Amino acid sequence: MKLPFTPLIESLPSTVPFVGPELQERTNGFPFKARIGANENVFGASPKAHAAIQAEIANCWKYTDPGFVDLKDAISDLHNVPTENIVVGEGIDGLLGIAARLFVEPGVGVATSLGAYPTFNYHVKGLGARLVTAPFVDDHESPQALLELAIKEDVRVIYIANPDNPMGTWWSGAELDEMIEQLPEQSVLFLDEAYVEFAPEGTSPAIDLDNPQVLRFRTFSKAYGLAGARVGYAIGNVELIKAFDKIRNHFGMNCFAIEGAIAAIRDQQWLTQTKIKVDEARKRIASIAADNGLTIIPSAANFVAIDCGRDGDFARAVLAELSQQGIFVRMPGVAPQDRCIRISVGTPDDLDLLEECLPIALRRAASG
Ligand SMILES: *Cc1c(COP(=O)(O)O)cnc(C)c1O
Repeated sequence: MKLPFTPLIESLPSTVPFVGPELQERTNGFPFKARIGANENVFGASPKAHAAIQAEIANCWKYTDPGFVDLKDAISDLHNVPTENIVVGEGIDGLLGIAARLFVEPGVGVATSLGAYPTFNYHVKGLGARLVTAPFVDDHESPQALLELAIKEDVRVIYIANPDNPMGTWWSGAELDEMIEQLPEQSVLFLDEAYVEFAPEGTSPAIDLDNPQVLRFRTFSKAYGLAGARVGYAIGNVELIKAFDKIRNHFGMNCFAIEGAIAAIRDQQWLTQTKIKVDEARKRIASIAADNGLTIIPSAANFVAIDCGRDGDFARAVLAELSQQGIFVRMPGVAPQDRCIRISVGTPDDLDLLEECLPIALRRAASG
């Protein structure tokens, strides 16, 4: 029987977008000892978030408030932004899909950087968009290259992450403001700030709610340590945010995620501690790299790209050797960024293991 898939669905590859560490563990036949590949927060969420999630168990027979008012109020307090300028959803990943549907239909141009965050690409390709890419410049997503591409290709959506993934590089808020000023009239900027809590002060451009051309995305998955709970939000102009109501999944977030996120926001002290631990771990990864004669790409995120000093094949071999020794890491997908492996911030134990295993992996990769 031939199923009546749409021509668009027929045209898409059936590859699984993300191969999780769990599948690698099944293939390897043993569990990873250090899980430092998915930019998760190994230090965990605030104990107050854990308690709030546990306390919510008795309420899970109820549907959630589809307006998500309590969570939006907490986010509103955090950023000093009215709730009407906030939409919440199942992580940035979920929100990117809905946001894309607001602007993208088959054939519409969408611009991103080659090798940037892939989930955005799956969404827009799934809508039949014409995805065009600008190269990274000096390991940065390039605002200038994206703007030029957007004009040339008449795109409706421009995606940039700041700090970016997989390199961890970043622009100052002032530099992004320059980009925002130059946006073509027909384009909206999706500014993905998944890692911005780890970045230096001034990395996020000031929020201008009058500007309908900028939609910024934040998440509880990274700095707040709630990746498995799936909570994110977007902030933007009222017209932009209102449009989400037409198509969003009104019960798309579960009660545990909501209560955990609210409690996490209220424990800013935990966040401060997390940032200190992340900064220490970034320095430790840099020093482990240096011990092996390698350099790192300076990072404003909770991961560090180590330049393995050769080509992508060599970095892939290093990655495979680390995996064989029980360390899960990932790496950029395209050249020349694929000369690097991307190490997520780990606990001191995780990084002890990295220190022990990296020289062995480098040696084995070099001897083929
Ligand atoms: C991890 C990551 C996300 C995922 O965010 P969720 O809220 O967990 O969906 C989004 N954007 C970038 C650039 C990321 O690296």
